[in-house]
Amino acid sequence: MINNSSYRCWAEIDLSALRENLAWIRHQVGLKAKIMTVVKADAYGHGLKEIASHLMNCGTNAFGIANLKEAHDIRTRGEGWPILMLGACIPGEMEYAIQQNVMVTVSTPEEVSSLSRIATQLKKQALIQIKIDTGMGRLGVDISQAYDFIKQTLKLQNSTQSVAIKGIYTHLAAVEDDEKFTQSQLTPFRSLVDQLRKENISLDYIHASSSGGILFENNDLFNTFRPGLITYGIAPSGVRNQTAKIQKFLVPALSLKTRVSLVKNISAGKTLSYGHTFVAPGAMRIATLTAGYGDGYHRAISGRGSVLIHEKMCPILGRITMDQMIVDVSSVEGVSSGDEAVLIGKQGKEEITAALVAEWADTIPWEVLTSISHRVRRIYLGITAS
Ligand SMILES: *Cc1c(COP(=O)(O)O)cnc(C)c1O
Repeated sequence: MINNSSYRCWAEIDLSALRENLAWIRHQVGLKAKIMTVVKADAYGHGLKEIASHLMNCGTNAFGIANLKEAHDIRTRGEGWPILMLGACIPGEMEYAIQQNVMVTVSTPEEVSSLSRIATQLKKQALIQIKIDTGMGRLGVDISQAYDFIKQTLKLQNSTQSVAIKGIYTHLAAVEDDEKFTQSQLTPFRSLVDQLRKENISLDYIHASSSGGILFENNDLFNTFRPGLITYGIAPSGVRNQTAKIQKFLVPALSLKTRVSLVKNISAGKTLSYGHTFVAPGAMRIATLTAGYGDGYHRAISGRGSVLIHEKMCPILGRITMDQMIVDVSSVEGVSSGDEAVLIGKQGKEEITAALVAEWADTIPWEVLTSISHRVRRIYLGITAS
């Protein structure tokens, strides 16, 4: 029998936190702006279907995604929501995107012609957003050619109606760290937006800012925002970040938990785990936990991180293995099999943030969240019956 108390590793997701974070984002961007919440990678590991349907009730205006399976999953929870595919479509995807009214990101005239041709065959219109490369380099028409490309595509739109330009956008490459570089991206993009305004070309979606841009930039000319990380309650890390200040306004939605399976005493000289990298300096009490890198808890944290048991920080000893890890509970009273251990989240006054776990793992909080693996059960809390 499997019930809550026998999960070995699970994530608790507080839906009311997402509601609060979205309300705070709304406050930042204003009532008229469109919030396109980014829910790629299974809603940053929180579970796409549940998060998408919850966000639909919390004031999101649109969704940003990375593949069409995600579009399908969102459509199963609510029809008609604007969805933007943030990556470039590969040829086999275009037909489905057009049929499902998913907005497609385009960077080249070739993509526009393919979409126009397929849309004509399907007797539909391809909804597109033109991506403009101002320094990220991954996608987009170079800013120097953006104006001509937009005008040319508008001509096609007016003559055939096979495509409709719903928006233009760019992506900032170093917004958390490099103010000067960010301005070198935003200044030409703003000029382009200004020029289009002067010509009375109005677009539903004009945007540049993900979480970092929302927090640090002047967004006056834009009508749409693409928050990912802050929606889930985590302030992005970087040198421009006043993490503590921003984090106060955000509520982390996800906690990652596991259990103690075994407690034992060891004596000085005893070695622990693969590679016997840890050697006990004296007598200790240790606990084995039922989570490992197979749950997406990075092996790089071996010997560096801690977990919370009975509201105390317990250092991880030796290497993290696929399904288990060992922690030091010498200074914690009364630990026994079945006790909860927190890998990410709060216990009493103590807290382990995703940002701290990222630091231990030499990575970023985005990767910590999206690494949480499939076998980790997601449990949703804070839902009011609707
Ligand atoms: C992932 C992504 C976002 C969201 O970024 P956060 O830093 O998580 O807010 C926004 N825009 C694009 C193009 C993305 O790929």
